[in-house]
Amino acid sequence: ALGGKRAVVTGSNSGIGLGVARELARAGADVVLNSFTDRDEDHQLAADMAAEFGVTVRYIKADMSKGDECRALIEQAGGCDILVNNAGIQHVAAIEDFPVEKWDAIIAINLSSAFHTIAAALPGMRASGWGRVVNIASAHGLTASPFKSAYVAAKHGIVGLTKTVALETAEAPITCNAICPGYVLTPLVEAQIPDQMKTHGMGRDEVIRKVMLERQPSREFATVEQLGGTVVFLCSAAAEQITGTTISVDGGWTAL
Ligand code: NAD
Repeated sequence: ALGGKRAVVTGSNSGIGLGVARELARAGADVVLNSFTDRDEDHQLAADMAAEFGVTVRYIKADMSKGDECRALIEQAGGCDILVNNAGIQHVAAIEDFPVEKWDAIIAINLSSAFHTIAAALPGMRASGWGRVVNIASAHGLTASPFKSAYVAAKHGIVGLTKTVALETAEAPITCNAICPGYVLTPLVEAQIPDQMKTHGMGRDEVIRKVMLERQPSREFATVEQLGGTVVFLCSAAAEQITGTTISVDGGWTAL
């Protein structure tokens, strides 16, 4: 359904970004993968995805903590029809102890990068007459947790940016929305399970249900495939009038 569309997904050599890129490729879009590394395995990931789905996939190195590299990514991609701002990092500390460089990095990567990529991508979308911007926010774009000041501020910020871009593009065939995932089973999260099992003296299922998914009423992780499917939905004709809003994929977290 997305044949001929060009997608750029920031922070897409692992986790949610990779899952989103795969679902876009499965739906027929050509894809640009991105992260800040430039390893053989990054380029291999692109080659494998191209072979699996029969679409064009490129890997472009760009550090999303740097505004000029964010803009250069869109330029090197040759513009894009679908922009998914996904790159993100986390740091957990009380605000009095929060390292300034961590605050700056989280605001730069989780929030400012989207300002730069959107500014760079919109002229091409306006010219081609079609565009979809999807920002990967978080349940922490709508609610807070202690010790995550930078992350919660950046994610609330991206929800605000989403609304503003939607208003500025409202009369164009362009939409801008944010997806707010709860806890998603990524390799990063998977890797925490053995430690948590040891710390709490619990089995895998118990530690997932009682410790990790304490705030997620479904007691199930969301999956990267589900997030990819939500992005593909936002790119579909059914979603043409959905703009400036958030879609929660959080097993009921924000209903609590
Ligand atoms: P992840 O660590 O697996 O993926 C993060 C991606 O961003 C990686 O590809 C990484 O290489 C890339 N990245 C990091 N710094 C970068 C930089 N400076 N420049 C370019 N790329 C960079 O984590 P994830 O869980 O897949 O997270 C992806 C997004 O989803 C983040 O924005 C995160 O806040 C959000 N999110 C994750 C969860 C979850 O439970 N995993 C929940 C809600 C929201």
